[in-house]
Amino acid sequence: MSSSVSTSPTGFDRFGLNELLLRGIRDAGFENPRPIQNETIPAGLDGRDVLGLAQTGTGKTAAFALPMLHRLLNHPYQAPRVLILAPTRELATQIAGEIRTLAKYTRLKMVTIYGGVSMRNQINALRNEPEIVVGCPGRVLDLLQQGELHLGEIETLVLDEADHMFDMGFLVDIRKILASLPGNRQNLLFSATMPKEVRRLADELLSSPHVVELADSAPAATIEHALVMVSESRKRDLLEHVIGEPEFESAIVFTRTKHRAKRLAEQLSKAGHRAVGIQGNLSQAQRDRAMRGFRSRQFNILVATDIVARGIDVSGVSHVINFDVPNTPEAYTHRIGRTGRAECEGIACTFVTGEDHSWLRATERMIGSSITRRQVEGFAPDTTVRSVPRAPARNQERYARPAAQPQYGRFDSGGRGRGRRRAG
Ligand code: AMP
Repeated sequence: MSSSVSTSPTGFDRFGLNELLLRGIRDAGFENPRPIQNETIPAGLDGRDVLGLAQTGTGKTAAFALPMLHRLLNHPYQAPRVLILAPTRELATQIAGEIRTLAKYTRLKMVTIYGGVSMRNQINALRNEPEIVVGCPGRVLDLLQQGELHLGEIETLVLDEADHMFDMGFLVDIRKILASLPGNRQNLLFSATMPKEVRRLADELLSSPHVVELADSAPAATIEHALVMVSESRKRDLLEHVIGEPEFESAIVFTRTKHRAKRLAEQLSKAGHRAVGIQGNLSQAQRDRAMRGFRSRQFNILVATDIVARGIDVSGVSHVINFDVPNTPEAYTHRIGRTGRAECEGIACTFVTGEDHSWLRATERMIGSSITRRQVEGFAPDTTVRSVPRAPARNQERYARPAAQPQYGRFDSGGRGRGRRRAG
């Protein structure tokens, strides 16, 4: 982690962070703290527990990482002292990447632990006594039970995307991991939504937490949502139409099954698009290759199942296309969180068939408003998909959006689409 020093002040100077971290922050190009960072960094530095209701894309990694890095630097000694648990390998890798950037000028060591790859390198890295362990619960538990990972010195625990961990069935593993941590530690829990199981875990884990609730736990305001009515048999043509529009730059396209993701990626490649698929049947090496290719813009279409739906920050994604509707309303907010990052505008476009009525009703109840319907000429729906009357939604406060009238804009081949500006 080393050289090239810039010294211009940033809005981060007032937190009293270690100078080595301030250099890392400058190099990362962060000028001013994000709201979640303003809220979380002082509480984290005070050693308080934190409950963060925020999704990825808000800047939460730096929010939890900077205070813990500061503490590690101010009281140096070697042992795993910070444990960060994340639901997917992709998110664990992304968190580790961000920490590596921020800690570039320090000598702190970190290991990333997840399944699907050999344990050998991870075990070797653990023998160097890294201060920071970032991992997915399954492999962390395996290494713990094999006696390769020692968690008796953990001072800070971060549970990231706790709701997703719950969805993936990790709560049992997490509870086992918690049982081997020392009682006297700081806990930070982040979750975009608060299902009751996560609420219960938070109640057990956190003591008098500082609660940070961001308005943009809801889909980012920079995202333009639209439903496009289409029959199942025309989805593929509609996709061609959307990716052929002038404002299209790049997309994550979500399908319901691994098989559909694989097939659609192959079809798009055959049709001459720079598309790649990512789904759970691929090896870790193949998944890494796909993500790397998408990040480096070798590919501009990533066809994915929900495995990559949360947590992945791919800057500059212009479209999220739900080729199939997500299984749950919660999954919708997570999927569309892949775009509209960092004040860039994004388009979240969901293909809806006549079969998707009950999903639509539940989703609109959850977000507290109806989602704009768009029609694309030549792509008639099998049935009319009506708006759900606005109901007092349970998350009305956090998700409220003005109810939208059906609109015929961007996807209308008649060319009445509004122009779209990109910031940044
Ligand atoms: P996260 O929610 O942690 O995944 O962060 C989303 C993206 O925002 C990442 O690419 C970060 O590097 C970036 N980011 C985080 N904090 C800041 C900041 N204060 N200024 C600019 N970019 C930031």
